[in-house]
Amino acid sequence: MMEVNLYCTGCNHKENINKNISRCPKCGEPMEVELKTKGKIKYSKNIGQNLLEKYQNFFPYLDIKKEDTLGEGFTPLVKLDNLEKKLDIKNLYLKNESQNPTWSFKDRGTLLGILHAKSLGYKKVGTVSTGNMAPSVAAYASKFNMKSYVFVKDNIAEEKLNPILIYNPNLYKVKGDYGSLYYKSLKLGKEKDIYFINSDVPLRVEGSKTIAYEICEQVDFKVPDYIIVPTSAGGNIRGIEKGFREFKEAGLIDNIPKIICAQSEGCSPIHKAYVQNREEIERFKNPYTIAHAIENPLPPSGNQVLRMLKRNGGFTEAVKDEEIINAQKMMAEEGLFMQPASCVPLAALIKLKNNGKIEKDSTIVLIGTGGGLKYTSVFDKYELKYNQIDLESINNI
Ligand SMILES: [Zn+2]
Repeated sequence: MMEVNLYCTGCNHKENINKNISRCPKCGEPMEVELKTKGKIKYSKNIGQNLLEKYQNFFPYLDIKKEDTLGEGFTPLVKLDNLEKKLDIKNLYLKNESQNPTWSFKDRGTLLGILHAKSLGYKKVGTVSTGNMAPSVAAYASKFNMKSYVFVKDNIAEEKLNPILIYNPNLYKVKGDYGSLYYKSLKLGKEKDIYFINSDVPLRVEGSKTIAYEICEQVDFKVPDYIIVPTSAGGNIRGIEKGFREFKEAGLIDNIPKIICAQSEGCSPIHKAYVQNREEIERFKNPYTIAHAIENPLPPSGNQVLRMLKRNGGFTEAVKDEEIINAQKMMAEEGLFMQPASCVPLAALIKLKNNGKIEKDSTIVLIGTGGGLKYTSVFDKYELKYNQIDLESINNI
């Protein structure tokens, strides 16, 4: 295995990757795996090639085996041609991450986290999650014969609980401030020998790189102008941006798309800091949004997302719950049922287009992080109608 380092995103402090260090011991900002500047895609005629085998060059610090997968990645990039016409956008795509093993993008980073944990000798993994990450970590722990510890919000909806419990994790509902739980879990992990694969730990960010790699291949390396990412903790958007940078350094693409951080107005700490031109985020008071999957009032990678946007030339947008539901309806008209958080990018795009911040001849990729069946209580927001008839009167429709 190649020697690889972790660097602090805040102060550049260096650590070796053969340790479980997610935040900088000096300044507290997130650590990140060093940029991989060389590498090739391993093309294979074998339909059974797994995601990490394909991009092995970009993960030189892991031993990758054929069987180490639940089939994550290789998700479709769907052309939204009806919406292109409706919104007057040249090229519009959805990267549909709901087609992962536990129906969200989290599986990419969970796999990397578990492989890293195993390589360091851990037998237990954990996570602090509002939704998608909990079932993902529980599922991968089962696959890799590890014990899992999952901490969820006390008010988690019942419909979300059973899809986690089916994988038989040690699950704890926690009363109290959810933002603080993230930091407490890192301490708990050290004491109890649990490797926490939280939202923005270095290996989870590494998993998100593969979303960018796949997009590059799917558009034949003609890089889109904008990538719009629903943003909560900030790990996914960081990983996607890193993926594009690595492919550019490796000479696989010529430029890097502008990254747009999309949040819900009811919980938009990164957007707020961005528009106020601050370098640090502040805790968002009284968060409330239908996009529960991105409801994090104090994103642990918030400051780094602000730094990343500055480097990238990207920006932020925030949208109301009504706009999110409207976007979900529009997505359904394209035949795609995505969870509310995954419709935030479309809602943001509509707003940005109307405000003249996105040009009509652009190529845009929306990141759809998880599927609609993850949050069925959203049906309450709709008036869904059906007809009832007798078999005899079926010709009268
Ligand atoms: Zn630091």
